[in-house]
Amino acid sequence: MAVKSDIEIAQEAKMLHIRDVAGSIGIQEDDLEFYGKYKAKLTEEYLKKAESNKKGKLILVTAINPTPAGEGKTTTSVGLGDALNRLGYKTVIALREPSLGPCFGIKGGAAGGGYAQVVPMEDLNLHFTGDFHAITSANNLLAALLDNHIQQGNELQIDTRQIIWKRAEDMNDRALRNIVVGLGAKADGVPREDHFVITVASEIMAILCLASDMDDLKKRLSKIIVAYNYKGEPVTAGDLQAVGAMAALLKDAIKPNLVQTLEHTPVIVHGGPFANIAHGCNSVRATKTALGIADYTVTEAGFGADLGAEKFLDIKCRIAGLKPDAVVLVATIRALKYNGGVPKTELSNENLEALKKGIVNLEKHIENIQQYGVPVVVTLNAFITDTEAEKDFVKKFCEERGCKFALSEVWEKGGAGGEDLAKAVIDTIENKPSNYAPIYPDNLSLKEKIETVATKIYGADGVIFTGPASKQLSKIEEMGFGNLPVCMAKTQYSLSDDPTLLGRPKDYKITVREAYVSAGAGFVVALTGTIMTMPGLPKHPAAYDIDVDASGKITGLF
Ligand code: ADP
Ligand code: MG
Repeated sequence: MAVKSDIEIAQEAKMLHIRDVAGSIGIQEDDLEFYGKYKAKLTEEYLKKAESNKKGKLILVTAINPTPAGEGKTTTSVGLGDALNRLGYKTVIALREPSLGPCFGIKGGAAGGGYAQVVPMEDLNLHFTGDFHAITSANNLLAALLDNHIQQGNELQIDTRQIIWKRAEDMNDRALRNIVVGLGAKADGVPREDHFVITVASEIMAILCLASDMDDLKKRLSKIIVAYNYKGEPVTAGDLQAVGAMAALLKDAIKPNLVQTLEHTPVIVHGGPFANIAHGCNSVRATKTALGIADYTVTEAGFGADLGAEKFLDIKCRIAGLKPDAVVLVATIRALKYNGGVPKTELSNENLEALKKGIVNLEKHIENIQQYGVPVVVTLNAFITDTEAEKDFVKKFCEERGCKFALSEVWEKGGAGGEDLAKAVIDTIENKPSNYAPIYPDNLSLKEKIETVATKIYGADGVIFTGPASKQLSKIEEMGFGNLPVCMAKTQYSLSDDPTLLGRPKDYKITVREAYVSAGAGFVVALTGTIMTMPGLPKHPAAYDIDVDASGKITGLF
C-alpha cells in the first residue's frame, strides 16, 4: 500500500468546528475571534484570565542536530499531545507558525507529519491568520519611516552608513540580501545600501514572541535601534515616532491562534522565529496561555537542542520567568547513522557500527540538557526501516545516561503510537524534580556569555572574535546592554559553526564575525560562521511541486 502524503492525510481529516475544540478545554465562544470555521484568535480578556490561572507542567520537545534524514520534532510534539489527551491528561500544544521560506524552499510545511499533524495544514503553512504579513508590514513601515525621515531633512542626523534596520519579506530570496535603495532623482530618496532579512529573523518577530501584552509590545518597539547618528548615538523606533502605527498593524497579530490536531487536541500556534538566525520559540503569550488552561503543555523549539533548546532555556524562560519540567529529546536511527557517516541513500540498511559512531551527537545533547538541571526523556521517532537491534542499542545507551527512553510511533499511529512516550514523560515529571537554571548568569560579560554557550553547549575549545565583532560587543556594553542574554546565529547542521562537522565535533573554535543588539527584543545577536539572515532557494524548490485546482484544493504541500 502506498504511504499517504502528509497533505493527503490532513485533507481527509474530519475537523471539528473550532468552537467545539475550544469548548473541550473550557473556552467559551465569547472568548474567540473566528477566522472561518477552523481557526480562531483568543481575545485579550481571555488571555488575561488564562494567564492568571494556576500553571500546569511545561514539556519542551527538542532534537539532535537536523540531517537530511529528518527528525520529526513537530510530529512528536503533536503526537505526544494527542497521547497525553488520550490518557486523560488535559493537554494543550503550543507551536510556532510556519514561514513561507521553508515551505517553498527545501523543507516543506511545518504542521507535523503522518497521523500527527495540525490542521488545517494548508492554512497553517500558507497565510494562516495573517500574523506574518502584519509583522512584515510593521517591519517595513519602520524602514519606510526611516528613509522618509532622511529624505525630509534628517533632523535626527542619521548616519546613512550606520543604518541597522533592514527590510523584511517572508520568502527565501537571496537577491535581496544586499541592495541599493533611493536611486533616481532627488524626490526618489537618499541612495544607500540596504538589506532584507526573512521575516522570521526580524526583531519585530522576536518582540511579538516575547511581549507580554500591548503595553509591553509598544515599550519594546520603541527601544528598537534602527541606526546611529553622526555622533555614534543610537536612533530608535521611538525617536522616529513609529511605535503607534507599528503597534496598530500588530493589534491582531499579538493574539495567539487556536487550531486542532487530527485528533482534536487544542493547539495554540503563535509567532515563529527561526532557531538558527533568531530565538526559535513560539510566543510567550501562547505558552503562558496554554499553561493557564492545561495540566500539560507540550511545546517545541526549532532545530537541534544546541539552538532551539538553548535559546528556549537561556532567552525565553529567562525573560518570561518560565520553568520547564521535562525535555523530550527526539532522535531517529536514520539521523544517528547519518551522523555516523552513512550517506543519505544507505540509511535504510541496519548499520550498528555507524549508529555507535553517530550516537555521540545524541550523547552531547543529553549532557547539554542535563546541564540546565531539567530531566530528559529520549524518544526515537520510529521509521519503518529501523531494526530491533538498532532500537535496543539506543534504548540501552539512553538508560545508561540516566534518562528515560520511549519509542514513538506517532507518525504512523497518531496519539495511540505515543502512549509509551506520554507515560515516560509523566513518570519523569512525577519522579524527577526539575532544577532548571540558565547556563550563564545575567552579569557575565557578553564575550563570556558567548564563550559559555560555545564551550559548554557546542563543545568548542573557545571563541575567535573578529575585530569588528569585538568592537561591536564593547560598544553594546558601553551602551548599557551588557546584561542581556545572547542569541547565537549558527548553522543548525552541526554542534559547531561548520555545517560539515557531524557527530560531536572536538578540538575546534567558534568564530563570531558580527554582533548587534536587539534592544526591543532584549538580546544581543552574535553571528557565527557564514550563517545568513536571508536564506536562498535550492535548485529544485518545493514551490515547483505545489499547485491548486479550480475548487481550491492544494496539492504538493508536504
Ligand atoms: P521537525 O519539526 O523536526 O522539523 P517535522 O515533524 O516537521 O520535523 O517532520 C519533518 C518531515 O518528516 C515531515 O514531512 C514528516 O511527515 C516526516 N516524518 C516525521 N516523522 C516521520 C516518521 N517516523 N516516518 C516517516 N516520515 C516522518
Ligand atoms: Mg518543527
